[in-house]
Amino acid sequence: MTEWAEVADGVFQRRYDPLDISICVVRGSRGLLVVDTRSSPQQADEVREHLRELGPHPVVAVVNTHAHFDHTFGNQSFGGVPIYGHRRVPAHLQAYEAPMLADWLARGEEPVEEWAAVEITAPTALVDRELRLLVGDRTVDLLHLGRGHTDNDLVLHVPDAAAWIVGDLVEESGPPMYGSGCFPLEWPGTCAALADRLGASDVVVPGHGRAVTRAFVETQQAQLAEVAQLITELHATGVPVEQAREAGAGRWALPAEGLDPAISAAYRALEPPAARDRRTP
Ligand SMILES: [Zn+2]
Repeated sequence: MTEWAEVADGVFQRRYDPLDISICVVRGSRGLLVVDTRSSPQQADEVREHLRELGPHPVVAVVNTHAHFDHTFGNQSFGGVPIYGHRRVPAHLQAYEAPMLADWLARGEEPVEEWAAVEITAPTALVDRELRLLVGDRTVDLLHLGRGHTDNDLVLHVPDAAAWIVGDLVEESGPPMYGSGCFPLEWPGTCAALADRLGASDVVVPGHGRAVTRAFVETQQAQLAEVAQLITELHATGVPVEQAREAGAGRWALPAEGLDPAISAAYRALEPPAARDRRTP
Protein backbone atom coordinates (compact mmCIF):
# COMPACT_ATOMS: atom_id res chain seq x y z
CA MET A 1 0.00 0.00 0.00
CA THR A 2 1.58 3.22 -1.13
CA GLU A 3 0.92 6.63 0.36
CA TRP A 4 2.14 10.19 0.01
CA ALA A 5 5.04 11.08 2.27
CA GLU A 6 5.63 14.77 2.93
CA VAL A 7 9.41 14.66 2.63
CA ALA A 8 9.81 18.43 3.00
CA ASP A 9 7.39 21.30 3.55
CA GLY A 10 4.72 20.93 0.85
CA VAL A 11 6.86 18.46 -1.11
CA PHE A 12 5.46 14.96 -1.44
CA GLN A 13 6.84 11.65 -2.65
CA ARG A 14 4.93 8.47 -3.40
CA ARG A 15 6.74 5.28 -4.33
CA TYR A 16 4.99 3.09 -6.90
CA ASP A 17 5.59 -0.40 -8.14
CA PRO A 18 6.54 -1.62 -10.62
CA LEU A 19 10.12 -0.33 -10.41
CA ASP A 20 9.73 1.58 -7.12
CA ILE A 21 9.39 4.78 -9.12
CA SER A 22 9.18 8.07 -7.20
CA ILE A 23 6.33 10.35 -8.18
CA CYS A 24 6.72 13.74 -6.51
CA VAL A 25 4.48 16.75 -6.03
CA VAL A 26 5.25 20.34 -5.08
CA ARG A 27 2.10 21.88 -3.64
CA GLY A 28 1.77 25.62 -4.14
CA SER A 29 -0.97 28.06 -3.20
CA ARG A 30 -2.90 27.52 -6.40
CA GLY A 31 -1.97 24.11 -7.63
CA LEU A 32 0.21 21.05 -7.86
CA LEU A 33 3.41 20.53 -9.81
CA VAL A 34 3.74 16.81 -10.60
CA VAL A 35 7.15 15.25 -11.24
CA ASP A 36 7.25 12.21 -13.55
CA THR A 37 4.28 10.20 -14.78
CA ARG A 38 4.99 6.41 -14.46
CA SER A 39 4.98 3.82 -17.25
CA SER A 40 1.52 3.98 -18.83
CA PRO A 41 -1.64 6.12 -18.98
CA GLN A 42 -3.38 3.62 -16.67
CA GLN A 43 -0.64 4.05 -14.07
CA ALA A 44 -0.75 7.83 -14.49
CA ASP A 45 -4.53 7.82 -14.02
CA GLU A 46 -3.96 6.07 -10.70
CA VAL A 47 -1.59 8.90 -9.71
CA ARG A 48 -4.25 11.45 -10.67
CA GLU A 49 -6.70 9.66 -8.34
CA HIS A 50 -4.17 9.77 -5.53
CA LEU A 51 -3.49 13.49 -6.09
CA ARG A 52 -6.96 14.21 -4.68
CA GLU A 53 -5.61 13.19 -1.29
CA LEU A 54 -3.42 16.31 -1.42
CA GLY A 55 -6.39 18.68 -1.49
CA PRO A 56 -8.62 20.28 -4.10
CA HIS A 57 -5.79 21.92 -6.01
CA PRO A 58 -5.55 21.28 -9.75
CA VAL A 59 -2.40 20.06 -11.49
CA VAL A 60 -0.82 23.16 -13.01
CA ALA A 61 2.26 21.60 -14.60
CA VAL A 62 4.25 18.39 -15.02
CA VAL A 63 8.02 17.92 -15.13
CA ASN A 64 9.83 14.91 -16.62
CA THR A 65 13.19 14.36 -14.88
CA HIS A 66 14.36 12.50 -18.04
CA ALA A 67 13.03 10.51 -20.98
CA HIS A 68 13.06 6.94 -19.67
CA PHE A 69 9.72 5.18 -20.06
CA ASP A 70 8.98 4.78 -16.35
CA HIS A 71 9.15 8.58 -15.99
CA THR A 72 7.31 9.64 -19.20
CA PHE A 73 4.91 7.01 -20.56
CA GLY A 74 2.07 8.42 -18.43
CA ASN A 75 2.47 11.93 -19.92
CA GLN A 76 -0.62 11.64 -22.12
CA SER A 77 -2.82 11.51 -19.00
CA PHE A 78 -1.75 15.07 -18.16
CA GLY A 79 -3.02 16.85 -21.29
CA GLY A 80 -4.00 20.48 -20.91
CA VAL A 81 -1.10 21.53 -18.69
CA PRO A 82 2.48 22.26 -19.74
CA ILE A 83 4.89 19.33 -19.47
CA TYR A 84 8.46 20.51 -18.87
CA GLY A 85 11.48 18.47 -19.88
CA HIS A 86 15.03 18.93 -21.08
CA ARG A 87 15.37 19.88 -24.75
CA ARG A 88 16.95 16.52 -25.60
CA VAL A 89 14.03 14.45 -24.23
CA PRO A 90 12.17 14.29 -27.58
CA ALA A 91 15.25 12.92 -29.39
CA HIS A 92 15.84 10.36 -26.64
CA LEU A 93 12.20 9.23 -26.79
CA GLN A 94 12.56 8.69 -30.52
CA ALA A 95 15.95 7.00 -30.39
CA TYR A 96 15.38 4.63 -27.46
CA GLU A 97 11.94 4.53 -25.87
CA ALA A 98 9.86 4.34 -29.08
CA PRO A 99 11.78 1.35 -30.56
CA MET A 100 11.69 -0.38 -27.18
CA LEU A 101 7.93 0.08 -26.94
CA ALA A 102 7.51 -1.23 -30.51
CA ASP A 103 9.56 -4.28 -29.58
CA TRP A 104 7.50 -4.93 -26.44
CA LEU A 105 4.29 -4.68 -28.46
CA ALA A 106 5.63 -7.05 -31.13
CA ARG A 107 6.68 -9.57 -28.49
CA GLY A 108 3.47 -9.30 -26.47
CA GLU A 109 5.32 -8.08 -23.38
CA GLU A 110 3.13 -7.80 -20.27
CA PRO A 111 1.09 -5.82 -19.37
CA VAL A 112 -0.04 -5.87 -23.01
CA GLU A 113 -3.04 -3.56 -22.53
CA GLU A 114 -0.92 -0.91 -20.83
CA TRP A 115 1.80 -0.83 -23.50
CA ALA A 116 -0.89 -0.76 -26.21
CA ALA A 117 -2.40 2.35 -24.64
CA VAL A 118 0.82 4.36 -24.58
CA GLU A 119 1.07 7.25 -27.01
CA ILE A 120 4.57 8.51 -26.48
CA THR A 121 4.11 12.16 -25.51
CA ALA A 122 7.07 14.52 -25.46
CA PRO A 123 7.29 17.47 -23.09
CA THR A 124 5.54 20.55 -24.43
CA ALA A 125 7.93 23.06 -22.79
CA LEU A 126 11.63 22.40 -23.34
CA VAL A 127 14.37 23.49 -20.96
CA ASP A 128 18.03 24.01 -21.83
CA ARG A 129 20.15 24.68 -18.73
CA GLU A 130 17.89 26.41 -16.27
CA LEU A 131 14.31 27.56 -15.84
CA ARG A 132 12.48 29.12 -12.89
CA LEU A 133 8.85 28.09 -12.41
CA LEU A 134 6.35 29.73 -10.12
CA VAL A 135 3.82 27.36 -8.59
CA GLY A 136 1.53 29.94 -7.04
CA ASP A 137 3.57 31.36 -4.17
CA ARG A 138 6.47 28.94 -4.58
CA THR A 139 9.61 29.01 -6.66
CA VAL A 140 10.86 25.83 -8.29
CA ASP A 141 14.10 25.85 -10.28
CA LEU A 142 14.70 23.31 -13.03
CA LEU A 143 18.39 22.68 -13.67
CA HIS A 144 20.34 20.61 -16.18
CA LEU A 145 23.72 20.00 -14.55
CA GLY A 146 25.32 17.98 -17.36
CA ARG A 147 25.09 14.52 -18.90
CA GLY A 148 24.98 11.41 -16.74
CA HIS A 149 22.16 8.91 -16.32
CA THR A 150 21.07 10.30 -19.73
CA ASP A 151 21.86 13.43 -21.75
CA ASN A 152 18.54 14.94 -20.65
CA ASP A 153 18.47 14.79 -16.84
CA LEU A 154 16.76 17.68 -15.03
CA VAL A 155 16.81 18.24 -11.28
CA LEU A 156 14.26 20.33 -9.41
CA HIS A 157 15.20 22.59 -6.53
CA VAL A 158 12.53 23.88 -4.16
CA PRO A 159 14.48 26.52 -2.20
CA ASP A 160 11.83 27.35 0.41
CA ALA A 161 11.70 23.68 1.45
CA ALA A 162 15.44 22.93 1.02
CA ALA A 163 14.35 20.05 -1.19
CA TRP A 164 15.68 18.52 -4.40
CA ILE A 165 13.99 16.08 -6.75
CA VAL A 166 16.78 14.56 -8.80
CA GLY A 167 15.39 11.77 -10.97
CA ASP A 168 17.77 8.89 -11.66
CA LEU A 169 20.96 10.93 -11.23
CA VAL A 170 20.73 9.35 -7.76
CA GLU A 171 19.12 6.02 -6.86
CA GLU A 172 18.58 4.61 -3.40
CA SER A 173 16.62 1.36 -3.68
CA GLY A 174 19.08 -0.11 -6.17
CA PRO A 175 22.47 0.86 -7.60
CA PRO A 176 22.55 3.73 -10.10
CA MET A 177 21.24 2.35 -13.39
CA TYR A 178 23.29 2.55 -16.56
CA GLY A 179 20.53 2.32 -19.15
CA SER A 180 19.76 3.58 -22.63
CA GLY A 181 21.62 6.74 -23.54
CA CYS A 182 23.87 6.85 -20.45
CA PHE A 183 27.14 8.82 -20.14
CA PRO A 184 29.18 6.87 -17.57
CA LEU A 185 32.30 9.04 -17.88
CA GLU A 186 30.41 12.31 -17.38
CA TRP A 187 27.97 11.13 -14.71
CA PRO A 188 30.48 11.56 -11.81
CA GLY A 189 31.05 15.22 -12.74
CA THR A 190 27.34 15.90 -13.01
CA CYS A 191 26.68 14.21 -9.69
CA ALA A 192 29.50 16.27 -8.13
CA ALA A 193 27.89 19.43 -9.51
CA LEU A 194 24.69 18.39 -7.75
CA ALA A 195 26.45 17.58 -4.47
CA ASP A 196 28.18 21.00 -4.57
CA ARG A 197 24.82 22.74 -4.56
CA LEU A 198 23.36 20.74 -1.66
CA GLY A 199 23.19 21.91 1.93
CA ALA A 200 24.19 19.19 4.40
CA SER A 201 20.62 18.58 5.54
CA ASP A 202 18.78 19.32 2.28
CA VAL A 203 16.26 16.65 1.33
CA VAL A 204 17.13 14.81 -1.89
CA VAL A 205 14.47 12.63 -3.50
CA PRO A 206 15.91 10.00 -5.88
CA GLY A 207 14.07 8.59 -8.89
CA HIS A 208 13.87 5.26 -7.09
CA GLY A 209 14.03 4.83 -3.32
CA ARG A 210 13.72 6.80 -0.11
CA ALA A 211 14.76 10.42 0.32
CA VAL A 212 18.42 10.92 1.23
CA THR A 213 20.83 13.75 2.12
CA ARG A 214 24.10 15.10 0.73
CA ALA A 215 26.27 12.42 2.36
CA PHE A 216 24.45 9.71 0.38
CA VAL A 217 24.86 11.67 -2.86
CA GLU A 218 28.59 12.07 -2.18
CA THR A 219 29.01 8.34 -1.57
CA GLN A 220 27.20 7.49 -4.79
CA GLN A 221 29.24 10.12 -6.66
CA ALA A 222 32.43 8.42 -5.47
CA GLN A 223 31.18 5.02 -6.69
CA LEU A 224 30.29 6.45 -10.11
CA ALA A 225 33.73 8.07 -10.28
CA GLU A 226 35.49 4.81 -9.38
CA VAL A 227 33.59 2.92 -12.06
CA ALA A 228 34.45 5.57 -14.67
CA GLN A 229 38.09 5.49 -13.59
CA LEU A 230 38.38 1.70 -13.82
CA ILE A 231 36.74 1.53 -17.24
CA THR A 232 39.10 4.25 -18.47
CA GLU A 233 42.06 2.31 -17.09
CA LEU A 234 40.97 -1.00 -18.67
CA HIS A 235 40.45 0.73 -21.99
CA ALA A 236 43.87 2.39 -21.79
CA THR A 237 45.62 -0.92 -21.14
CA GLY A 238 44.04 -2.47 -24.22
CA VAL A 239 41.50 -4.77 -22.57
CA PRO A 240 38.82 -5.54 -25.21
CA VAL A 241 35.35 -4.26 -24.38
CA GLU A 242 33.86 -7.74 -24.09
CA GLN A 243 36.46 -8.76 -21.50
CA ALA A 244 36.44 -5.56 -19.45
CA ARG A 245 33.85 -6.56 -16.87
CA GLU A 246 35.70 -9.77 -16.05
CA ALA A 247 39.09 -8.05 -16.10
CA GLY A 248 37.88 -5.62 -13.45
CA ALA A 249 36.40 -8.34 -11.21
CA GLY A 250 36.81 -7.54 -7.53
CA ARG A 251 37.54 -3.87 -8.23
CA TRP A 252 34.10 -2.57 -9.26
CA ALA A 253 32.54 -0.07 -6.83
CA LEU A 254 29.04 -1.05 -8.02
CA PRO A 255 27.50 -4.50 -8.73
CA ALA A 256 29.28 -5.85 -11.82
CA GLU A 257 26.15 -7.40 -13.36
CA GLY A 258 24.73 -3.94 -14.12
CA LEU A 259 27.87 -2.54 -15.71
CA ASP A 260 27.84 -3.87 -19.29
CA PRO A 261 25.94 -0.84 -20.66
CA ALA A 262 28.34 1.46 -18.78
CA ILE A 263 31.38 -0.31 -20.20
CA SER A 264 30.16 -0.30 -23.79
CA ALA A 265 29.02 3.35 -23.67
CA ALA A 266 32.30 4.45 -22.06
CA TYR A 267 34.41 2.50 -24.56
CA ARG A 268 32.55 4.16 -27.43
CA ALA A 269 33.23 7.57 -25.89
CA LEU A 270 36.92 6.74 -25.37
CA GLU A 271 37.59 5.58 -28.92
CA PRO A 272 39.09 8.26 -31.15
CA PRO A 273 36.69 9.41 -33.89
CA ALA A 274 38.93 7.85 -36.56
CA ALA A 275 38.57 4.39 -35.02
CA ARG A 276 34.82 4.85 -34.88
CA ASP A 277 34.76 5.85 -38.54
CA ARG A 278 36.77 2.82 -39.64
CA ARG A 279 34.17 0.53 -38.14
CA THR A 280 31.36 2.10 -40.08
CA PRO A 281 30.78 -0.04 -43.16
ZN1 LIG B 1 16.05 6.42 -15.76
